[in-house]
Amino acid sequence: MKAAYITGHGGNDVVEFGDRPQPRRQAGDVLVRMHAATLNRVDLYMRDSGAGITHALPQIMGLDGAGIVAEVDASETRLAVGQRVVLHPGVSCGRCEFCLRGEGVLCIRIGYLGEHRDGTLADYVSLPARNVFAMPNGMSFAQAAALGVNHLTAWRMLHTKGQLKAWHTVLIFGIGGGVSLAALQLAKLAGARVIVTSRHAGKLDKALALGADHAIDSSRQSVDKQIMALTNGRGVDLVIENVGQAVWASAMRSLVRGGRLVTCGATTGDQPPADLRRIFIRQLQILGSTLGDLHEFADLLALVEATGLRPVIDSDFPLAQIHAALSRLESGEQFGKVAVQISAAAP
Ligand SMILES: [Zn+2]
Repeated sequence: MKAAYITGHGGNDVVEFGDRPQPRRQAGDVLVRMHAATLNRVDLYMRDSGAGITHALPQIMGLDGAGIVAEVDASETRLAVGQRVVLHPGVSCGRCEFCLRGEGVLCIRIGYLGEHRDGTLADYVSLPARNVFAMPNGMSFAQAAALGVNHLTAWRMLHTKGQLKAWHTVLIFGIGGGVSLAALQLAKLAGARVIVTSRHAGKLDKALALGADHAIDSSRQSVDKQIMALTNGRGVDLVIENVGQAVWASAMRSLVRGGRLVTCGATTGDQPPADLRRIFIRQLQILGSTLGDLHEFADLLALVEATGLRPVIDSDFPLAQIHAALSRLESGEQFGKVAVQISAAAP
């Protein structure tokens, strides 16, 4: 089968498009004929170094994905051959302390597609049936694929960790990336007031068109001063953050007393000053988050089905042009997801 895979670590020259053995389906697994995937920052991380993530080369890239069930156990009741499906990329063990308490996303043996095992940028993927969900109606495969990492991550950050309420104000740093855009869409659907930041005026205009209530140009304005002006000196209830060190101080100063900051990344550095006095006096909460659980994915898919939410797709590449797709993601110019079409079949 055709696949995009890494043969080492470095730039695009370690990424090959070519033939890999088709996975053999184990009992309990589903073999999915992939139609589309979208790229995530971790794909660049795996290409560049993959440090700290146990994996064996060559390894097929790609975390999220959507396709059609090709093979499934005869006893499977939830899924059938020919069904359109979207994948949850985290394969948990089902047996450890964390799995047993229903938090598979904390599993000590969790294996992510495209990180610890072969991923979705291939004609076929085989994975446990519990990781395979019916695709919401009326979506393209690329739109559905985009839900599996960024929207799931944003869902857990906003709802499970952030305890978002309809009357909250949310501050989202670095609008334009996959998680921040997903958070904007999901926070607006929850009824919240949303303030976004970017250093690119064009991205702010697009975010306002998508429903953001206010946009702060962080190349020209102080984010926390603007936040205080926009909230009558109160601050925001929730900060959604994956930029890290460059915005940390500003994020902390933007929070209302008792407010929550949820972080899922540290693109600009992971060692900001802790500002402990502010944390305990103002009783702030700082929460880490990564991806989301199977039940959170089910809730997200139900919301998408009910509301018609569609992830923002920036651009679309055939799998054979994986280098161009990775370069687009790396450029930082994108607004929304970089999609990869795996099958030529129409969505
Ligand atoms: Zn486990």
